[in-house]
Amino acid sequence: MKLAVVIGDPIAHSRSPAMLNAAFAASGIDAVMVPLQIAAADLPATIAGFRAMRILGASVTIPHKVNVAALCDELDAAARAIGAVNCLQLAGGRLVGHNTDAGGFVDGLREAGFDPAGKRVVVLGAGGAARAVVHGLAAATAPGEATVTVVARRPAETTWIRCRPWHELPAVLADADLLVDATSIGLNDDAPHGIPLAALPPHAWVATLIYHRETALLRDASSRGLATHDGRAMLVGQGARAFTLWTGRPAPRDVMLTALNAALA
Ligand code: NDP
Repeated sequence: MKLAVVIGDPIAHSRSPAMLNAAFAASGIDAVMVPLQIAAADLPATIAGFRAMRILGASVTIPHKVNVAALCDELDAAARAIGAVNCLQLAGGRLVGHNTDAGGFVDGLREAGFDPAGKRVVVLGAGGAARAVVHGLAAATAPGEATVTVVARRPAETTWIRCRPWHELPAVLADADLLVDATSIGLNDDAPHGIPLAALPPHAWVATLIYHRETALLRDASSRGLATHDGRAMLVGQGARAFTLWTGRPAPRDVMLTALNAALA
């Protein structure tokens, strides 16, 4: 049996084992994914152990996505551009760091029926997830085909892209086709989000990356008749890409979504 792992600290909340183990079972692959809580100081030794054990692959989550990049032999284009790795693959003894969050986000959007080509997208927040979303949209469309504007509350402190300040949101949203909330605003409570949804055109979609709860933002968007898209699609998308990298097989995305929903219930 092959071993896959997901590493983070904390890790008990991770739904990756539920999704990936369901995918292995449905595809007849003799492998298992286990969660490992790894402290930052133990990351180099852990990675050395993965090499020695020739594991099938690893998913990487907070707080290791940036630091693990330096421990890889090679990075894919997305991981290099974003500066973060969320998926490790052992290829002929070499450890390759991938960023499947970026492509996973776009896969999920497309599957839901939103094609980013030719669209105006507004991304809220400038953290690691926002960076993955922006890269994913750029990589999935021809140069200049999608217009992406990032809006952050501390634009002057963001170095990887030029951001618009928060107070310009009403003007920025006025011609947006898609709003992606990549902040952590809705992570834990239902406090008012303060995002001026009324400024969006009626055809616009509203997406969040949060996957474990219904956010006030999506509830409000829905009650305004706007199309909504939550973070489960991105989570399944990044896991599906990891599955294919590790096994060379297409991922059973429906099975993974069903397993994710069951794990979240
Ligand atoms: P980070 O902490 O790196 O970034 C969070 C961003 O949100 C920062 O730009 C931060 O701004 C901004 N922010 C937080 N609170 C507010 C607020 N009240 N008003 C305006 N901006 C705010 O987190 P990540 O980028 O790693 O993750 C962001 C979200 O995406 C999380 O909820 C995470 O769970 C989710 N996620 C989902 C994934 C999926 O597969 N579905 C994958 C990865 C992440 P500032 O710097 O000023 O604090």
